[in-house]
Amino acid sequence: MKKCDLCNKEDVIHYRVKSINYKSWIFCCKKCWHIVSKESQYSYGGTRKLK
Ligand SMILES: [Zn+2]
Repeated sequence: MKKCDLCNKEDVIHYRVKSINYKSWIFCCKKCWHIVSKESQYSYGGTRKLK
């Protein structure tokens, strides 16, 4: 399992996102994605799934 770049929680699914606070791509869990997706300049770059 990989860790969320924001909260360090391990999960199998992460979302690749950017926002005004994160200028380069980060991978975050679903919970953090809900927060980042409300930020200004949010963009979505795909989903990472581990088997
Ligand atoms: Zn997280």
